[in-house]
Amino acid sequence: MPASDASVIHMAAYSDAGAYPEPVTGLRGLGGKRAELLLKLGVGTRQDLLFYFPRAYDDRSGRCSISAIRENAVYTFFAKVANEPSLQRKGKLSWIRARLTDGAAFLDAIWFNQPWIRNRLQVGGEYLFHGNVKINRGKAQIQNPVFQDAAEDEDERILPIYGLTRGLTQTIVRSAVRQVLDSTLPGRMTDPVADILRRKYKLCTLEFALRAIHFPNEAHDAEIARRRLAFEELFLTRSALALMKEKRSLTQKGRALMTGEESRAGLARLRERLPFSLTRSQMTAINEILRDLRRDKPMNRLLQGDVGSGKTMVAAFAMAYVAWNGGQSMLMAPTSILAEQHMHTLSSFFRNEEEIRLALLTSGTAASERKKILEACGDGTCHILIGTHALLQDDVQFKRLDLTITDEQHRFGVKQRGKLSERGEGVVPHRLVMSATPIPRTLALILYGDLDLSIMKDMPTGRKAVSTYIAKSSDMRHVYDLMRREMDEGAQIYVVCPLIDESENLEAESAMAVAEKFSREIFPDRGVALLHGQMKQEEKDRVMSQFMARQSQILVSTTVVEVGVDNPNASLILILNAERFGLAQLHQLRGRVGRGKRASYCILQTDAGDSLASERLQTLCRHSSGFDLAEEDLRLRGPGDFFGTRQHGLPAFRLVNLYEDSGLIREVEEALTEIRELPLSEREKAERNIRRAIAERYPELNAGLTL
Ligand code: ADP
Ligand code: MG
Repeated sequence: MPASDASVIHMAAYSDAGAYPEPVTGLRGLGGKRAELLLKLGVGTRQDLLFYFPRAYDDRSGRCSISAIRENAVYTFFAKVANEPSLQRKGKLSWIRARLTDGAAFLDAIWFNQPWIRNRLQVGGEYLFHGNVKINRGKAQIQNPVFQDAAEDEDERILPIYGLTRGLTQTIVRSAVRQVLDSTLPGRMTDPVADILRRKYKLCTLEFALRAIHFPNEAHDAEIARRRLAFEELFLTRSALALMKEKRSLTQKGRALMTGEESRAGLARLRERLPFSLTRSQMTAINEILRDLRRDKPMNRLLQGDVGSGKTMVAAFAMAYVAWNGGQSMLMAPTSILAEQHMHTLSSFFRNEEEIRLALLTSGTAASERKKILEACGDGTCHILIGTHALLQDDVQFKRLDLTITDEQHRFGVKQRGKLSERGEGVVPHRLVMSATPIPRTLALILYGDLDLSIMKDMPTGRKAVSTYIAKSSDMRHVYDLMRREMDEGAQIYVVCPLIDESENLEAESAMAVAEKFSREIFPDRGVALLHGQMKQEEKDRVMSQFMARQSQILVSTTVVEVGVDNPNASLILILNAERFGLAQLHQLRGRVGRGKRASYCILQTDAGDSLASERLQTLCRHSSGFDLAEEDLRLRGPGDFFGTRQHGLPAFRLVNLYEDSGLIREVEEALTEIRELPLSEREKAERNIRRAIAERYPELNAGLTL
């Protein structure tokens, strides 16, 4: 570690934010009640107001008349409300309809789920409307338009349009933002982008950006401002994660596990006994992990590999290495089915290694058995403890825990990652997180910037792509024929039931109905088993082990089979109502087959006519690699399905669009490297400003830095 990294320590204690949070109260027109409403929008301070960016602009220079509306687009026009707006409700949903006219033509307007709008519209009143017009069979309709009194006196040609909540109007928010912009605050905000970077990446100053994003003189200014602020958003998020990582490595101690004769011989022996050779990716990942384990800093590594790339093997080598060094490991899986399977795989993998002892602990483990296992962990006779969340209980104590591995943790956020590692004093165990959600590297750097990355790109040889098809209900006879043929050849089949969001109970019921139909009507001559989340643990385990032992041929289940289950003899997965699943989830499910030598199939049953849904499913048919799929999904729809930042525990981006701004992401990476290469004093100054800006603007990330 270069000496200059010590500068980070000083900054970790840094809390002297440049612009102290100033409350919004005291601004004209923002009494206590309105200030509370702003809070609903996440705006608590004057600083927040500056960073509460408009979601659109009302460009008055481009106003039109209603008769000029020809196509689906956003329009701005003056119009009067021609009739009494009507409100309809259905359950939680509501619609308001009104007819607008500019004297020459009429246009229908509709607002969804904003019942309060009705009281704000006066019949005969004139407003400036702005919104999206949809034309359906020749009838035009403007949907959820924003509007303001035509008489309102505003000189700006381009006005910001903010997201609102009931009780606030554009005028109120605009006036509040205006007042803050007119104060000295914009000039006092910390600009974290050093001049040298600003020049190189052609970014405007923070002050200009803050003014221009709210009240641009021309449309182009708003663009310049957006680019600068989006850059900054990425830059600060990325810096915060990098700082977390550096801070950890400076403050935490880990146990250096050295390669002795025993572990060297052991690793070679294990490799020799494998019935296959490791892929290049597996070897690289194992080496990266062993290198981390030899350092006296705790490892914090993400192992990312597509479904079926063989991550369990990599974990096995790491845990064996730890055991030969006299330490213990813990492997945590999200479900007990998966924990069970890991136990099975690893027991057989280590069957000739007498000095490596394993145990399985789930919530279903009997009390007497549990007691024995805890003793073995406490006195060090158990080297590898496999289990579910049950492993996190307080009475699970180890003699010398050196490595924790969490499997399939794609639902884990930054905060939880912090919690797991920040716990305890003294020596912190090495940590490996395994994830099957493939994401492009640039994105991984943002979402997992506080971890080191091992990415496994190649798959075990001999794997065939899973042939993926879409089937309508009317095609099901052919699908059943295919299923029969596969089973006649000794293969097994998964049937996944429709996802039902509201209730696991309904999902279980639907699975039961499907299992019933399959076993009575369609395949009365085959063994049909049922698996769902409402079943008792022992029962799930029994069903699963019978399926693994080929005692049943069809396993009808809910998404409980989504993660990790490994039965190489399964060759077909049928997913019912596939349109209800996310793309990432479908890819995971598809990964249940194609794990052996047999050619495999994934059938996506859907009757949805919706074109976006069917395009998504077709994407899945075209791409077999999760990495390609992720890129494609990103291209198709922006970062929705695969990468909600929220899902990763990062604050939601205000301006950045992870797909469209991929160029910006690269520039930010470059800029971060450049900062590290600056002369020490300049680097310190730049980093101080970064820290200060994080403290001002991202309290959540800042909390992670000052722990
Ligand atoms: P995942 O990365 O999805 O967790 P697994 O670890 O479950 O994948 O491995 C999938 C299957 O591939 C297992 O049956 C495993 O034994 C097998 N496997 C792992 N590595 C290799 C390899 N190098 N060559 C062939 N098969 C392998
Ligand atoms: Mg796995």
